[in-house]
Amino acid sequence: MPKPVLSVLFIAIWAAAAVQPPPQPARAGNASLVVRDVTLIDGTGAVPRPHASLVVRDGRVAAVVPAGQEPPADLVVDGRDLYAIPGLIDAHVHLSGGPWTSAADALRRTLAGGVTAVYDLAGDDRETGDLARAVLAGEIEGPSVYYAALMAGPPFFSDPRVLASSLGFEPGTAPWAQAVTPETDLVRAVAAARGTGATAIKLYAALDAALVRRIADEAHRQGLRLVAHATVFPAKPSDLVAAGVDMLAHAAYLVWEGSAPSPDYTRRAFGDFAHVPADSPAIERLLESMRDRGVALDPTLWVFAEGQKPDEATALRTPWMNAVTRCASDLGVTIAAGTDDMFDESRDRLPLLHRELETEVAGAGLTPMQALVSATRGAAHAMGLDAVRGTLEPGKVADLVLLDASPVDDIRNTRRIRVVVKDGRIVGGVRPRGRR
Ligand SMILES: [Zn+2]
Repeated sequence: MPKPVLSVLFIAIWAAAAVQPPPQPARAGNASLVVRDVTLIDGTGAVPRPHASLVVRDGRVAAVVPAGQEPPADLVVDGRDLYAIPGLIDAHVHLSGGPWTSAADALRRTLAGGVTAVYDLAGDDRETGDLARAVLAGEIEGPSVYYAALMAGPPFFSDPRVLASSLGFEPGTAPWAQAVTPETDLVRAVAAARGTGATAIKLYAALDAALVRRIADEAHRQGLRLVAHATVFPAKPSDLVAAGVDMLAHAAYLVWEGSAPSPDYTRRAFGDFAHVPADSPAIERLLESMRDRGVALDPTLWVFAEGQKPDEATALRTPWMNAVTRCASDLGVTIAAGTDDMFDESRDRLPLLHRELETEVAGAGLTPMQALVSATRGAAHAMGLDAVRGTLEPGKVADLVLLDASPVDDIRNTRRIRVVVKDGRIVGGVRPRGRR
């Protein structure tokens, strides 16, 4: 019986390989770069630090020193009257589904608009993976691309979007879009997902609490993150939190903690907003357990409020998701900003992440600093990238944006981009002429 032995050996090697660090930047920047005498907003939430100099070496932040104490460098950027923030991170995008060249162009413009990393939460990972590779190889300029492979119960696999992203496969059998049931061999299924180059599994719909827990355990054992819609029917939000999911997407779906699950997963955006207050004890308990277990919330406020056609729930849903996001932030839940899209020229000439941050402030009532942290340290934390991204501290990847006004005074100032630096290399910037 040699085969089972080999399988066990293979799994052991696979599990050992699963503790690799996340992908590192492949391209060296300028050997050294100094941004001299800038106001540093480092992404940790700390108060802005005026007259700081950022020292960048080999694509990483080497040091932060008082202006005047910086070492000589190959390139010095005068930071006077500028504000340095970490490169922004969109923790919820979808890149695939259109022509590769359109996605590449959107990535190029997203980077120029200040976004230096994105998290693709499911699609056709053949295309998404190749875009991620092309960025690493320098074939296109773009943010670093991290992505998820999807798992859901069989009822989901008649959705036209999932069929389009699985061309060439029987529905539910593509490694990046797998139908799972209690009978699924999850060791193989998670290994197949991991083989796409994904760093996470995304749970979409039609899964119960027991199966969610088994997927979570196996995903984490193989070194993958787990992201889920905030309800996946019949599993409730608290079932997902208890299972150890790392990030819940769509604040509006948290309402299902307060009512019975719908038998129809397509009703997920139509919860009982009228009878389950965002500050009810059930929701507050849920948010506290998210905080205690380190589960991030990716609220996607803008897309529900303004980014799609109003529906019969919009009038109640928008204030509800704003209120629950504010409660989550106040209670100390990590907020990870995401757009559920990324870039749409017909709506905005800059990446939609700027709109999401504006909605976090104007809609949910977060402070501009809290909003900024949600697209820097918060998003990096939700993606498992704390050690490499999200803040401008020594050792972190040198992805940063220089603005000519402070985003702490007005979050709309994230649009006032002077320079974008990726991996320690100046990759450009844009001068917005105003919104749209
Ligand atoms: Zn999405």
